[in-house]
Amino acid sequence: SIPLTFFGGIGGASRSGILIKGGNYLEALAQVKTIVFDKTGTLTQGVFQVTGVFPAEGFTEDTLLETAALAESWSNHPIAQSLRAAWGKPLDSSRTRQVHEEAGHGLTAQVDGVPVAAGNARLMEQQGVQIPKSSKPAEGATVVYLTINGTYAGFLQISDVEKLTSAQAIQSLKRQGIRTVMLTGDAEAAAHQVAQRLGLDDYHAQLLPGDKVEKLEQLLNAKAPNSTLAFVGDGINDAPVLRRADVGIAMGSLGSDAAIEAADVVLMDDDPAKLPLALRIARKCRRIVY
Ligand code: ADP
Ligand code: MG
Repeated sequence: SIPLTFFGGIGGASRSGILIKGGNYLEALAQVKTIVFDKTGTLTQGVFQVTGVFPAEGFTEDTLLETAALAESWSNHPIAQSLRAAWGKPLDSSRTRQVHEEAGHGLTAQVDGVPVAAGNARLMEQQGVQIPKSSKPAEGATVVYLTINGTYAGFLQISDVEKLTSAQAIQSLKRQGIRTVMLTGDAEAAAHQVAQRLGLDDYHAQLLPGDKVEKLEQLLNAKAPNSTLAFVGDGINDAPVLRRADVGIAMGSLGSDAAIEAADVVLMDDDPAKLPLALRIARKCRRIVY
């Protein structure tokens, strides 16, 4: 019968680490024509390495890195984790107070009572701080600029790498006729590099969490009749997008509880290669049902 076949599909998928929260989503998965991806933690590992420390005149590499790591000591953003790991020594987070983290920007805090801002070019603009023309990060790198007591103190260059199976998963989806799009809060150059390496059909960069919802809605409005759109994310700032998509797919182990709650499908091991597999399982069930 129909329900039994659906249960078979859901059971089969779950044995592959793909949790589908009901027959409706199995059906919706079978009709996916567009998959929209978050970047950090979804297509990339979400584990940034610090690849360069560039203090402004009057600051040392140690001051720049330690202050950035201290400022970020309360944050659980992947960028914060990487800065703490790069500092490598114990950090006394009680030195950091009044932390205000702003999605898509970075954060401000008091470190030893001194105001510090750590984040991207958008945050610097918001703080009214001019980034010197001599600050030239490598093409495609993600950058954290730092101000100490209102003065530009330099930048840290960090980079994230694609998951080992991301490129293969994208190629496999393309062979299935799926259009692939990436939405990210990261800078244009960093997004461009990932999109090109993975062979994505399209991408949109520098998006704030609200912009991601707006972009998703545009893509939902533009899709072909009788087709569905899936969004794949890790839940950091993207739970509203997960909820809005026809099929919201969360990365299970990296993802927050909120993401797993908001999602219709959960990939238990965060592996993008499970996406083409999920679509194949869903279509196979459909052929059996009809
Ligand atoms: P993504 O869309 O790639 O998952 P986010 O929306 O989490 O990225 O963040 C977008 C951008 O905002 C980051 O690339 C970074 O420039 C900046 N940012 C966010 N949080 C922090 C932070 N804690 N420290 C420094 N920069 C941050
Ligand atoms: Mg993210």
